[in-house]
Amino acid sequence: MLDTTDPTPAIEEGAGLGVLREVFGYEAFRGEQAAIIQHVLAGRDALVLMPTGGGKSLCYQVPAIARHRAGRGVTLVVSPLIALMHDQVGALEESGVHAAFLNSTLDGDEARQIERELLAGRLVLLYAAPERILTPRFLAMLDSLHERGLLSLVAIDEAHCVSQWGHDFREEYLGLSVLHERFPGVPRIALTATADDHTRHDILERLQLQDARAFVASFDRPNIRYTIVEKVDPRAQLLQFIRDEHDGEAGIVYCASRKKVEETAEFLRRQGIAAWPYHAGMESDVRKANQDRFLREDGLVMVATIAFGMGIDKPDVRFVAHLDLPKNIEGYYQETGRAGRDGLPADAWMTYGLADVVNQRRMIDDSPAAEEFKRVQRAKLDALLALAEGLDCRRVRLLSYFGQASRPCGNCDNCLQPPAAWDATEAARKALSCIYRFRQHSGLGFGAVHLIDVLRGKATDKVHQHGHDRLSTFGIGEDLSDAQWRGVLRQLIALGHLASVGEYGTLELTASARAVLKGDASLMLRVPAVPVATRKARATGRTKAVPMPLDELAAGRFVALKAWRAAIAREHNLPAYVVFHDATLAQMAREQPDSLTALAGISGIGSKKLQAYGPQILRVLQEAA
Ligand code: ADP
Ligand code: ZN
Repeated sequence: MLDTTDPTPAIEEGAGLGVLREVFGYEAFRGEQAAIIQHVLAGRDALVLMPTGGGKSLCYQVPAIARHRAGRGVTLVVSPLIALMHDQVGALEESGVHAAFLNSTLDGDEARQIERELLAGRLVLLYAAPERILTPRFLAMLDSLHERGLLSLVAIDEAHCVSQWGHDFREEYLGLSVLHERFPGVPRIALTATADDHTRHDILERLQLQDARAFVASFDRPNIRYTIVEKVDPRAQLLQFIRDEHDGEAGIVYCASRKKVEETAEFLRRQGIAAWPYHAGMESDVRKANQDRFLREDGLVMVATIAFGMGIDKPDVRFVAHLDLPKNIEGYYQETGRAGRDGLPADAWMTYGLADVVNQRRMIDDSPAAEEFKRVQRAKLDALLALAEGLDCRRVRLLSYFGQASRPCGNCDNCLQPPAAWDATEAARKALSCIYRFRQHSGLGFGAVHLIDVLRGKATDKVHQHGHDRLSTFGIGEDLSDAQWRGVLRQLIALGHLASVGEYGTLELTASARAVLKGDASLMLRVPAVPVATRKARATGRTKAVPMPLDELAAGRFVALKAWRAAIAREHNLPAYVVFHDATLAQMAREQPDSLTALAGISGIGSKKLQAYGPQILRVLQEAA
């Protein structure tokens, strides 16, 4: 335990920054990183709330390295996903940091070898899943380290897994409080991208982190452009979006169901896009193979359910597309946050329509959950619907949901092409009163398609059959198109004035419809956007496979560097980004360093990589010249 008689040397102020520059080759900390790292270096507990892609890993990796150098021993990293440990450890080893994982993919000899490294105090970081950590054998090893002052720090990644509120709940996380009880003097840092109060409260309580300092980083991801479009023909819209903006680039397409995942992947493949499916219903080895391929190969599209993504730290995902509406803003933000971790321009794109609103509402209504829980779910869905329907800056809404004030961003669809609004009060009243007349007329309710037919005065069989051509509301909505009416209905449902119930989606008035019917509430709605023309040549000037502005010669060097990187990655059995990020290669291509000293100045090259790869890189640059 650390006290005043502690023989280990104190850790100096600048140790963290020194490690950042030397090991990772980065110039400066981002945002809260500096304060967090200082706090943990000093041996205190921390709870870190940072958006996906915000830079959480360094918050424990830098202290782990600095503390190990000061004789404090190993940092234990609790991580829920065995499948990803290999690449995380590979990335550290590439940077010259001695790290390892212990999990069921190792054979007995490999595991024993790592245990020896661990017990000898040579390992800097050890990754393991909670179920492993909680075994008597593992705890006994930690005891041994602790007795010798060699258990430096415990980092609990994806800490929201301890909370039943999120969809990532993992029973085994509940057992982790034993680490605190057993090793009270060892500092702990818990990290998550989930920011709602419930989850945060659960983390503090269940991991016994009540005395930890909470660091809440800015949730803004300025390089991500948010776009939400009306669903017309979602597949065709998706295809156009990928072709126009992200041809040949890596992306994730989220769908709500397994079937839709399969169908969409198949559709994209037929259109010549390298897309693969991923969902929990697939054979686990096929699923894993698809995930590996996505991580390792360039420019693949992963079509997935939300089962895919946690812990995926591939930095060059250029877009995240949603074909279905997520459940809430937390989900949307977490999923879209997987785009652009490398800080380069990326897109979060979603299609959204009437059926999404209806389905999500119904899913909550039909669930067997307690009423209290449903109420929370409904409120969360409402916030997401308000985001989708909103006329103002998407980012301002997102950030304000996380309690952070901001100004219009200039990098979302609403900022870039302010949508026109129209006064839909009258149209809404027509729709609502028509629904009212249906009931009055025959006691029956009807769905959206029929309602729109009646409003537009179409003499369909069904209209005749029910005598709806005799209603006073027949044909009162001829001035609007089908699509416009669907928009009105969608927005009325989103706003809670209408409910779509039962198997056939019968439309029913809710209590709040009265105010609209009486003309007490006015309604400003988005003008349904005409599908946006291609924005390919937008300001960033990006072209295929070069995610940032580079002149022609530099682009040639970039491509040469990528080819070299691919060979190294294959040789080391690691994803290419673990060797170097695109941003690092692009800077090399642009600045053309001609000496090791010049190369050392590029962001993302630490001393180990400079030594291991420097001469080769200089050669590639020369040959490409
Ligand atoms: P998170 O775990 O919060 O989702 P990561 O730890 O994966 O995010 O970091 C996102 C990306 O940002 C990584 O590629 C990482 O190398 C990079 N990064 C983090 N901190 C810095 C920094 N201070 N300077 C430059 N790049 C950074
Ligand atoms: Zn904006």
